[in-house]
Amino acid sequence: MLNITPNHAQTKGLTELRNNWLTTRTFMVSAPTGSGKTGLAAFITDGFINSNKRVLFIAPYTVLIEQTVERFVQYGIDENLISIIWQKHRLYNPNKPIQIASADTLIRRELPTDVDLIIVDEAHLKRKKLLTYIKETTAKVIGLSGTPFATFLGHYYEKLIKPTSMKELIQLCELSPYEFYAPTKPNLDKVKSSNTIMGRDYNEDELGEIMGDADLVGNLVQNWLENGQNLPTICFCVNVKHANFVTLEFKKQGIKAEVMTANTPTDERRLIIQRFERGITKIIVNVGVLVAGFDSDVRCIIYARPTKSEIRWVQCIGRGLRTAQGKDKCIIFDHSGTVHRLGFPDDIEYNSLPNKDDGMKINLIQERKQVEKKPKECPSCKFMKPLGVYTCPKCGYEPLANEDVETDETRNIQKISKGKRVYSQIEKQSWWSQILYYQHQVAQTKGKLLSDGWCAHMYKSKFGVWPRNLNRCLQEISPEVRNFILSKQIAYAKSRSSTTSAQQKLSLATDELRGQNTNKISSLTARILEAKRAAERATA
Ligand SMILES: [Zn+2]
Repeated sequence: MLNITPNHAQTKGLTELRNNWLTTRTFMVSAPTGSGKTGLAAFITDGFINSNKRVLFIAPYTVLIEQTVERFVQYGIDENLISIIWQKHRLYNPNKPIQIASADTLIRRELPTDVDLIIVDEAHLKRKKLLTYIKETTAKVIGLSGTPFATFLGHYYEKLIKPTSMKELIQLCELSPYEFYAPTKPNLDKVKSSNTIMGRDYNEDELGEIMGDADLVGNLVQNWLENGQNLPTICFCVNVKHANFVTLEFKKQGIKAEVMTANTPTDERRLIIQRFERGITKIIVNVGVLVAGFDSDVRCIIYARPTKSEIRWVQCIGRGLRTAQGKDKCIIFDHSGTVHRLGFPDDIEYNSLPNKDDGMKINLIQERKQVEKKPKECPSCKFMKPLGVYTCPKCGYEPLANEDVETDETRNIQKISKGKRVYSQIEKQSWWSQILYYQHQVAQTKGKLLSDGWCAHMYKSKFGVWPRNLNRCLQEISPEVRNFILSKQIAYAKSRSSTTSAQQKLSLATDELRGQNTNKISSLTARILEAKRAAERATA
């Protein structure tokens, strides 16, 4: 007997399995993040071994084997009944009723042929050896996946069971609600695609080039400083080079960011996650490793890994939707254009298993038809509005007729302007006191005088109004206010440097003009005009 009580989704899943047990050999259970997937596996396993049957559980990655054993034991399964199929592992014993293996080191001849049930975790991942094994065995098979969208699943699993959905779990408050913002959208028109373990997707090297652009990365960092509220954050990047660049840019601003990739050793990963959970590390910048088995309290996601794969999209965003004490939502900054391309993750749902191919061929898979029902971004605050919503629920902005059309696919880097959220007088006073504290601190530590006007402008850039009816008490500055001031200083420095370079060009051209013959005047006049316009644009 397990020491946990089945939740709503587990009860429903177990009942549906039972109702179809005699007529079906292979099942796929849709089990989104937060539905209690490992618990469901434990209930099924427990039921089987209690009737003297043998179960093989296949984890997606070797690093997740120990975690599965830990959970099973925690739920009340006797560790003495568990064997890990891995040479020389202390728990290896082919006679035990529960055998646990990993799909990424799967060697078919080592797999037991005398099991009654095979449970495949993260069954949407394409593992050819495993698929062949499922086809050839006579044992019952239950696949588990939060994203049963892979094109080949219908060839291997007969019946889809959907005890719950991401949307329902959000409604039931078992998953956290989210807020989507799309501060920047890269142009990916020229990027080629190929088949990956997550389905058809963009070429990573080409993505890395585009997403590693200094402006894009600069905007990502500045946007987080301005709007990220200093929340515990995970950032998804394209490749190691991209992740290192992003991490470095955060560190330059004094933000404690750490990078985690497939090459990060397991022990080091554990330490990074510990530092993150203690608040020592603010941002984990990762490349495809925080997808399965990461359950820390995340309140903000920076998504900078463009994808065509609905599986990758839902898996990544799902990392931010775990509930936690004091968490009212997860803020998502999509810098990849994916929310425009694939829509909100909880709108991606299928009622049957895709059956397009058997997963064995390498040739092209037909691209999914574009869904027209996509959310749209608010032109003012970049909040992603659900389809059909006209007035922005975040800032109240009503788009003009020509603003509500689809933005074009050209590179579209825009700064987030602040939302018109209503702030209480206490919040405003707190910000004002912290800005004054900053003024005081800079004067003391750097001997630099920031005027009261500077403080008032900083306040106005946050709230849109001048500070009024506020006292001048100081309050120690929080990271959120500090980050906000930093983001404004970066924006100011940026506009200064583009103004300066335009003005330099203007004066150079004017100097040249003075020393030149008159027959070159017309071309120089054109250059002056052009430089003037650039200077005006930069100032504006
Ligand atoms: Zn808005």
